[in-house]
Order: sequence, then structure tokens, then C-alpha cells
Amino acid sequence: TPPKDYLLAVEALTVSFDGFKAVNDLSFYVDENEIRVIIGPNGAGKTTVLDLICGKTKATAGSIRFRGAELTKMSESQIVLSGVGRKFQTPSIYDDLTIFENLEISYPKGRSVWGALTFKRDQAVRDRVEEVSEIIFLKDKLHERAAFLSHGQKQWLEIGMLLIQDPELLMLDEPVAGMSVSERIKTAELLNTIIKNRSVLVIEHDMKFVEDIAHKVTVLHQGKILSEGSMQKVKTDPKVVEVYLGH
Ligand code: ADP
Repeated sequence: TPPKDYLLAVEALTVSFDGFKAVNDLSFYVDENEIRVIIGPNGAGKTTVLDLICGKTKATAGSIRFRGAELTKMSESQIVLSGVGRKFQTPSIYDDLTIFENLEISYPKGRSVWGALTFKRDQAVRDRVEEVSEIIFLKDKLHERAAFLSHGQKQWLEIGMLLIQDPELLMLDEPVAGMSVSERIKTAELLNTIIKNRSVLVIEHDMKFVEDIAHKVTVLHQGKILSEGSMQKVKTDPKVVEVYLGH
């Protein structure tokens, strides 16, 4: 057991697909307010790790503790409710709705509100939508249809749709894929803003971006950790150099 309380503690995590261990006795720990990046060659198990954390795939063995709660025993929706948000690569925004409406429909429901309370709730939703729209650089576009956004802006909107639910851990799969250089820079800024209230776990192939954002890098290879530490440390690790440049 690690000596301190981590936001996320993954321990001895294993998943077998027909006897093949895509994730093999993996342990890693993510701090609060941390940007952690997972890198590794194709087939290393990166996507499977995120699938396990969000409950899309069930572990064969091991544990995933999030704020002390055991995620491997929860359903996908329970995991979302406990504060884990996951963005997939393909945006799932509604092109025909405005930016405002896309954010509004993502605001957590569940509290039963009626009568006089409705107004208060609506105001709270509007305030939160404005707050989030500013973080994702879309405040001046709130009433435009999402269809007119650039590819990068659509990615930010989808991050906003997760942020409005205020997750404590946000998982992103290749967030800057297909983005322009300036969008990539703004995405780094966005991530640095949002970690004041949460941690971010990112899968990324763009090494320039990894260098810009990662507090710590976990290098996966064949379902295990090959190397872990600062980008500076892992990129000069001979084991990493061999996996990326060797053969
Ligand atoms: P990465 O994201 O690092 O490219 P993945 O996590 O997608 O790697 O995949 C790791 C390995 O597990 C690959 O060999 C992949 O073929 C295998 N795998 C992933 N999901 C499944 C599944 N549902 N059934 C069988 N094999 C899978």
C-alpha cells in the first residue's frame, strides 16, 4: 500500500482477453491536481487501462481505488457519479444545438426541482455554462450552432460537456489529434486551468504536447510499465528509446 492518499490508485490490475493479458499486473498512482500522460507503442494497453478505470471493461484481477472507493466493483454509471469523466476520440456533441444548449444538457440532473426552485436552478445552470464556456474558449460563441465550430473547438466543447459535471478525474484520449498548433497550445492552457480542481489522465502520441503538459509520464509496453517519471527522465531511458526506435 502506498504511504499516502492518492486520488487514483491502480494496483496489480490485470485483464485477460482469451488468455492474453492486455494489462498485466499494472500499478500506478495519480496525485491530486496532476496531469498524467500515458504513452506507449500501439497495442501497449493504454486504451484498455482507461476502459478499465471507467468500467467499460471489467478487470480480471487487481484494484482501482478512487478517493478510497473501489471502482472495479462499480457499474459505468456509478463510476461517472463518483467523479470520473471520460472523453472518447470521436466527439459526441450535438451539431444542431448551440454551444449553450450542448453544455446545458450535460449539466448533472437528478435533483428533483420544481416551482420556485426551478428559477434558482436555471440560474445556477446558466452561471455554470458561462463559467465552463470561458474555460473552453467559447464564451463569445455560446449561441452559435455547434456545427459551425472547428474540429479543435468541437473537442473543447466535449471537454466542457464533461467539465460541467465537475469530475475529479478527467480522462482524455489523444485530445490534440488533428488540432492546429495554436489549438494545441490553447489545449495545454485549458488543461492547466482545469487541474486546479481535479486531475487529468491523458493518452497521447504527440510528444511535443506531452512535453508541454505532463507532470509525470507513464510508459506502457505489453500491458506493463516500462518506465515512469518526468518526460525528461523517460525519454532518455534506454528501455524507452529501444521500444520506440529499436527493432
Ligand atoms: P493501445 O491503446 O496502447 O494501442 P489497447 O489497449 O487498445 O492498446 O490494446 C492492447 C491489446 O489488447 C492489443 O493487443 C489489443 O488487440 C488487445 N485488446 C484490446 N481490447 C480487446 C478486446 N476487447 N478483446 C480482445 N483483445 C483486446
